[in-house]
This record gives sequence, C-alpha cells and structure tokens, in this order.
Amino acid sequence: MENGLRELVSCLSGAESVPEQVWRSLLSVGKDERDWLAAMARKVTEDNFGKGVYVRALIEISSCCRNNCLYCGLRAANKDAVRYRLSKEQILECCAKAASLGFNTFVLQGGEDVMQTDEWLADVVKAIKAEYPSKAVTLSVGERSDAGFAMLRSAGVDRYLLRHETACEKHYSLLHPSAMSAENRKHCLHVLKQLGFQTGSGMMIGLPGQGVDELVADLMYLDMLKPAMIGIGPFIPATGTPFAKEKPGDVDTALLLVSLSRLRFPKALIPATTALATLCEDGTERGILAGANVVMPNITPSAFARNYTIYDNKKYHDSESAEQLELLERKLNAIDRFIDYSRGDYMI
Ligand code: SAM
Ligand code: SF4
Repeated sequence: MENGLRELVSCLSGAESVPEQVWRSLLSVGKDERDWLAAMARKVTEDNFGKGVYVRALIEISSCCRNNCLYCGLRAANKDAVRYRLSKEQILECCAKAASLGFNTFVLQGGEDVMQTDEWLADVVKAIKAEYPSKAVTLSVGERSDAGFAMLRSAGVDRYLLRHETACEKHYSLLHPSAMSAENRKHCLHVLKQLGFQTGSGMMIGLPGQGVDELVADLMYLDMLKPAMIGIGPFIPATGTPFAKEKPGDVDTALLLVSLSRLRFPKALIPATTALATLCEDGTERGILAGANVVMPNITPSAFARNYTIYDNKKYHDSESAEQLELLERKLNAIDRFIDYSRGDYMI
C-alpha cells in the first residue's frame, strides 16, 4: 500500500493544484492508510511547528443570531435556545483573565447578533488592542458587508474565522435558507483575504447531503483560497433544528480531513476542534496526532458558555480556566506535545 499512497501524497506538496482524482483516492482509503497519513501529517506538523501547540482563548460573545443555518442550535428560529450577549465590559474581563493565564490570542466568536454591529465590535476591539497591543485578536462573527470587514480590520482585528461550510452551491442551499448563499460566503472570504486578515475557513464533516463529491469540492476550494487557518470538525446534531435527528459526523473521517489538510497546507493553523472533543473523550489528542497544531480553550464564564448551544452536549468547562490549562498541558505531554503560549501567527 505504501508506494501507491506515497505517490498520491507526493501530489499534495508543491504543485499549484491537486487533480480531483487524487483527492478522491485519498478520501477513500482504509484504516491502515489513514493511520499512515496521520503519521505523515504529524511529521509535517513537527517539521513546521515543533512540538508546541498554540492556544487561543475562546470567548463566546453572543448566542443571538439573525441567521437560520439548518444545522446550528443558535439559529434564530430555535425558540428553545437561551440567548445572551456579553457587554464590552464582560468581554474585557474575559480578556483580562485570558491575559493573566498567559494567552496571546483572543478569539471573539458569536452568532450574527444585530446588536453587535460593526461599529460596536470595532469599539470593543480598539479597547482590547489599547490594553493588549501585542496580543492578537481573532473575530468569528459571520458574514458582514465589505465596509464592515474593512472597519474591523482598521480597528485592529488580526484574524477572521469564517468557515465556507460547504463549497458546493447545491449542498450549501440544502443547509441554509435562501437568504444565504455560497456565493456570498466565498465573496466574504475573498474580501477578508484582500483586506489582509489572516483568514480561516473550513467545513463540518458528515453533514446531511455530504458525500465524497462534496468533500472533493471542499478540498479544491481550500486549495484555491489558501487559508491561513482551517477549521474541520464533525457535524453534531442540535436539538431544535431541522437536523436534530440526523447522525453525527464520523470522527475518523474528520481526522482524515485534518491529515490531508496538513499535508497540503504545511504552514496552516489547524485546530483540534471542540466538536472532535465533544464526540470523543480523547478528541483533542487525536486531532493533534492527525496533524492539528492549535487548541482553543473556552474561557467564556460557564454561566454563558452553557447556553452557547450550537450542538448538543457541547463541551464546556465548569472548572476554573487555570485548571483547564493544566489538564490540557497534561494531555499534550502524554502525547509528547506541550502548550506554546506565543501568538502563533500564520507564517508563509
Ligand atoms: N456565526 C458565526 C459563523 O457562522 O461563522 C460563528 C459562530 S458559528 C456557531 C461557528 C461554527 O460552528 C460554524 O462555522 C459551523 O461550522 C459550526 N457549527 C454550527 N453548527 C454546528 C453543528 N451542529 N455541528 C458542528 N459544528 C457546527
Ligand atoms: Fe448563526 Fe453561525 Fe449558527 Fe449560522 S452557524 S445560525 S450564522 S451562529
């Protein structure tokens, strides 16, 4: 098996684009081949980043959302979702706590909350940057206008996470209401890159309607976008959504996609996602061993985090953030890794 696989993997490095058939073959490999690919991906990660794993402090700033993505528990039509939004002061408190724990990146993530306007967010980011000029700020607050993105960039936002979710238009329209489009999502990602954000994209694995064709389209889109960050996690059903009774995504397939992304994008910042850790106890370690190099501990106060219910049984911690970090360090040490507290910018 190794020679054939080696040949396929060699197509991933260097070349301007990867033939569709190569992705198809790599997506259909069995367990032994997946393990081999994970080992290769791990080596590429170590060659580029050493044994350190970057940490980002995740702050879930709002559970309110105007959108109705069919997969997400925060969708506007979910009347059972408990809504909250953090104030500027509460966000700054979270940043102070994260800074005291040694984090050098704050990730502000939330629904598309109409009250958290571009102007409001820009003001919050300026306040964070005034207090912590050397730290990185990442936003993940959905689609905005071109002018909105420009305002946020001028306010000092360094990075922006906006998963494309699925690159295939037909599939996108199965997952979203007609007010949303794959075209606009891709437009946003293009604008983010143009504005100089370190731009993150990615997709869920195991979504209803997703097969090999859709995953090939995702990989080919990533190839075109060349994102700085790639978020890949299994789909997990959420109560109160049209997909509540669907099956969760397959963890091994999600890990395969992490490995393939690492092999194709050696320098990308790839998190071991919370969704992986939600579906299996050792999801973080397995993500790292498949080629991820980032973990995003949640430092949102648990009274809020428990209501950021994008999917069922989402992992959040009642324990103190310092304890969470100690536990993470122990988990990473057990797989010969350690926490790297530096900013961890994307380096081309
Ligand atoms: N509202 C922003 C957005 O959509 O980009 C940021 C918050 S949103 C909750 C962050 C990510 O959560 C989405 O990009 C999506 O991939 C993921 N997500 C939403 N529902 C999910 C589900 N049921 N299972 C797994 N991931 C999910
Ligand atoms: Fe809103 Fe993001 Fe959830 Fe879509 S995925 S409903 S935009 S929070």
